[in-house]
Amino acid sequence: MQMEIQKQSYRICSQCNFFKPKEISLKNEYCEKCGHELANACKKCHLEFNNPFAKHCKKCGEKIT
Ligand SMILES: [Zn+2]
Ligand SMILES: [Zn+2]
Repeated sequence: MQMEIQKQSYRICSQCNFFKPKEISLKNEYCEKCGHELANACKKCHLEFNNPFAKHCKKCGEKIT
């Protein structure tokens, strides 16, 4: 049996790159640094962000930050 890898997803600010793990920010929809809305999935293909340092969506190439 294979161990299931826990996939962490993040909310990312598209303005200043601030990010938070989704689990601890369920109600935090806005960036603490600049007040911009945080996104947790690609606006084009809706793939959840699991790399907080990514600059582009790994599936469709849409710009994240
Ligand atoms: Zn921000
Ligand atoms: Zn995408």
